[in-house]
Amino acid sequence: MKMDWLIVGAGFTGCVLAERIATQLNQKVLLVDQRNHIGGNSYDTYDEKGILIHQYGPHIFHTNAQHVWDYLSQFTTWRYYHHRVLAVVDGKQVPVPFNFNSLYALFPTKYADKLAKKLIAKYGMDVKVPILNIRESEKNGDLKFLADFIYEKVFHHYTQKQWGLKPDELGASVTARVPIYLSHDDRYFQDPYQGMPQHGYTALINRLLAHPNIKILLNTQYQEIADVIKYKKMVYTGPIDEFFDYMHGDLPYRSLHFNFVHTEQEHHQSVATVNYPNDFDFTRITEFKHLTGQKAYGSTYAVEYPRVYLKGENTPYYPIPREEHKALSHQYKLESEKMKDKVIFAGRLGDYQYYNMDQAVARALHLFEKEVVKT
Ligand code: FAD
Ligand code: UDP
Repeated sequence: MKMDWLIVGAGFTGCVLAERIATQLNQKVLLVDQRNHIGGNSYDTYDEKGILIHQYGPHIFHTNAQHVWDYLSQFTTWRYYHHRVLAVVDGKQVPVPFNFNSLYALFPTKYADKLAKKLIAKYGMDVKVPILNIRESEKNGDLKFLADFIYEKVFHHYTQKQWGLKPDELGASVTARVPIYLSHDDRYFQDPYQGMPQHGYTALINRLLAHPNIKILLNTQYQEIADVIKYKKMVYTGPIDEFFDYMHGDLPYRSLHFNFVHTEQEHHQSVATVNYPNDFDFTRITEFKHLTGQKAYGSTYAVEYPRVYLKGENTPYYPIPREEHKALSHQYKLESEKMKDKVIFAGRLGDYQYYNMDQAVARALHLFEKEVVKT
């Protein structure tokens, strides 16, 4: 078989690059994935009860980037959806990111008024402040009390469960994904473009790949076929340390286990996701019908259990953003630069970056313009 490109990994990164190469350059692509389906971690499917679930955890699309939204909108229409998350704190379900509604739900009104006034005076209204920043700047008084309270009740134990680390042992960007929001807006994201693909992610990606220049090979590790296929260049979106046979050592990842539970009830919970920062050994429960809007009898939800990543045994879901890991990932980056005429590295695992879907798509579109077109 003679192809122009071998693309390893059928997640958003690999599929967007396949689409661009096939449609814009009229070149032939072989897209290979070790799993038995396309879509990477964004894959969704119907379970045995007919409920549309996200096999690898809840995926909500949101972006600031109009060009990413416009690009994907060629392949899907969108269901209007703004994500809402509640966290169980002191036995109450309160909005996360922690905001004024959370504050008033947890404290007597007079004290909440006092804290809200002090927060606005110091930080302003409608402002997002990462918990680690507030903790650093509050040395005493009511706002220190509040910062310690939020840290302890929302972040400390959740982060310990999710990563096996305390918030300040991780890159500050991790907890800054869910900053304190000095607002009454309960939405998880404020991006101008958000929603769910009307017919799901797998349907969207199927449409991305619907071109005669794209051939798809599933259930296959690229190592099994790389020597027998003729191709000019590779895009690699698997783990970068695996590509280089771990020559500089193993990059750390975090894994997860999902327990899918079906209930005969119409709904299991009032919003899509409920976080459990302080109890149990799972982090959150997500009920898919809230995300997808599916009308069906019964409902399915996923309970997320963080796991230590064990090479060959479970899935490397998250790179672990931590200062200590930067040097090692940089060594692999340098290796990848030596091969840049033959292989383009990209994606959450290929770049070892905690990308959201829109960032993976933006990176693929950028690479297409900067690296692929000139090939
Ligand atoms: P992936 O989707 O991981 O695809 C890589 C593919 O490469 C995989 O299918 C893998 O099987 C394949 N592969 C690896 N090695 C080989 C090999 N040797 N041979 C063949 N194939 C190989 N983003 C959001 O925007 N919103 C969310 O709400 C959100 N929620 C998330 C929840 C969870 C639990 C997780 C884990 C991620 C979430 N994300 C979310 C992030 C999103 O999943 C990623 O941004 C996106 O999947 C990145 O796409 P990718 O193509 O880079 O990688
Ligand atoms: N986080 C937390 N408590 C929460 C929600 C989030 O401590 O109730 C922290 C935790 O460290 C988590 C990070 O913020 O890993 C980012 O949360 P996000 O919901 O963005 O995680 P993802 O959906 O990527 O797993």
